[in-house]
This record gives sequence, structure tokens and C-alpha cells, in this order.
Amino acid sequence: AKADGKNQWALFDTERNAAEVAQFQLSARMPAALEHEEFYVEYQPLIDLHEQSMAGVEALVRWWHPELGRLGPDRFIGLAEETGWIVSLGRWVLRRACWQATQWQREFGTAAPFVSVNLAVRQSRDPRLVSDVAEILAETGLPPSKLQLELTESAVMDTADEPLEALHALSRMGVRIAIDDFGTGYSNLAYLRRLPVHELKIAGSFTEGLREVAGTDPINARIVNTLVDLAHTLGLTVTAEGVETHAQAQCLTDMGCETGQGWFFARPCSAETLRSLLTSGTD
Ligand code: C2E
Ligand code: CA
Ligand code: CA
Repeated sequence: AKADGKNQWALFDTERNAAEVAQFQLSARMPAALEHEEFYVEYQPLIDLHEQSMAGVEALVRWWHPELGRLGPDRFIGLAEETGWIVSLGRWVLRRACWQATQWQREFGTAAPFVSVNLAVRQSRDPRLVSDVAEILAETGLPPSKLQLELTESAVMDTADEPLEALHALSRMGVRIAIDDFGTGYSNLAYLRRLPVHELKIAGSFTEGLREVAGTDPINARIVNTLVDLAHTLGLTVTAEGVETHAQAQCLTDMGCETGQGWFFARPCSAETLRSLLTSGTD
């Protein structure tokens, strides 16, 4: 039995090492991947629940790896955060998304969607953040009001003065700030009140609990209602993520939630597909 146990450990170790090697290889390849244009951005519509129109889009990064094929962000964002390489990747996503939004702006004018870009914790603490954003807006010509930055609770809570200064500077520029996955982290409500935040994005795990009337989890529904009311009390707008059914969309609309995002409306898609959605929308 002892020998077996030993073998199991040996096997476990080999497997773990293989996984570590794979992770290491993935991180090591990132800089070259950026150069070879293996990363690309998809856009998911953010729907105005009252107007039933596309108000904005969220930019979501993907990696087309030459051997592994399509990789979702869950495979590489965490790694890139660990190595700090997320700062370069994030800057690239921001530039790409702003450039794309400018094209829609040229073609569709005021009907063009704003673009919402995810910022990693590391990026929010990068001293170059404000100057990078200013430079990218100037270079692409995107109006600041057409850019939203999504930060998680952990990126904005408990921070030193500098990142807070950065948020104020971005807000003064006219860029919108959203708190991503709201309700899943730890938020200091008194602190939230003093932050230059414009929107709360309620995590999909809450939306999931809003099912057909018969199956609705009443406590969850009240939590969502409370989050929506809290946002409104603070003068913020609300986006609900992960809307997959008509019943959920209806429930959120009734609660006064402004924006919905999810497969019920549209999946993340290429810039070309999004353009055709906009074209059919303005017919
Ligand atoms: P997130 O910011 O919460 O983005 C929403 C995620 O939910 C996306 O996953 C989206 O495809 C997925 N989603 C949208 N609608 C539905 C729905 O109706 N049902 C379900 N089950 N899921 C839905 P994705 O694209 O795999 O991205 C995962 C996470 O990776 C994002 O979560 C975000 O935290 C991170 N991420 C993506 N792009 C970037 C980026 O450019 N920079 C950084 N720092 N993080 C990014
Ligand atoms: Ca997000
Ligand atoms: Ca989210």
C-alpha cells in the first residue's frame, strides 16, 4: 500500500509539473503572440432595456493560439496578471477597442455604441494609466464619453491614494467608470459613495437566480432589487450581466435596471458582425 501511495504522489507531481510547464509556456509566448496578432477582441452588446436598443458594447479579449486554437480570457488573463504582462495586453485591448468604436462613430454617428473595456487590478495601479488613456483617446479621436472602463471591486476598494487619483482624473476627462461583478466582492459602501463611479454591473450569478416566475428564488430576486435600488440611491446606473431568458430581462426591466447584457440579447461577436447588427438596427 505504501508503494502505491508513493506512486500516486509521483503521478500527481508529474501531472502538476506538466500543468505548470504548460502555463509557463503560455505566459512565455504572450509577447510574441501580441506581435503576431494572435489576440483579437470580440464585442458584446449592452442593451438599453427601455429603448430596446444597443447603447454600448463590452470589449472581450480572445487568443487564437497557433497550436491550441481559440483560448478564452479565463485561460490567460490570470497568468498575464501574475507576470504583470497584463499591462501591455490591456493597453493593446484599450487601443484596439477605442479604434473600433471610432469607426462605428464615423459610420453611425450618435447611434454608435460606447465601448466598455475591462481593466485588470494591475492596470488600475499602473502610473501610466491616465496618460495612456488620454493618448489613446487623442490618437483615435474617440470622444471620452464613448469610453467606459470596468474595474472590479478589489481594484477600487482598499486602494492607496494614487489609483483613486487616477479614477478622478479619468472621470474629469469624461470617461465613464463602472464597477464590474458588483456584489461578488467586498465593497465598502461609504467608500463607494466617494468614488467617481457611474455604473454598477451586477454579476451574472445574481441574474441566474431570476428564473420564470414559478421558479424564482425570492431571496435572490430581493437581493437584485436591493442592488438596483442601492445603485439608484447612489445616483448610479445598473447593468445586469448574464441575461439568458426573456423572463430575466422582464424582471430586471420591472426592477428599473437600465441595461442588460447576455445571450438572450446577443453573444460576443466580431467587429464585422457587430457592424451588421448596427446596420440592421438603423434601417
Ligand atoms: P466579465 O468582465 O464578467 O465578462 C462577462 C463574461 O460573461 C464574458 O466571458 C462573456 O462572454 C460572458 N457572458 C456574456 N453573456 C453571458 C450569458 O448570458 N451567460 C453566461 N453564462 N455568460 C455570459 P468571457 O468573454 O469568457 O470573459 C471572462 C472574463 O475575462 C471577463 O469577465 C473579464 O473579467 C475577463 N476579461 C475579458 N476580456 C478582458 C480584457 O480585455 N482585460 C481584462 N483585464 N480582463 C478581461
Ligand atoms: Ca466586464
Ligand atoms: Ca462582469
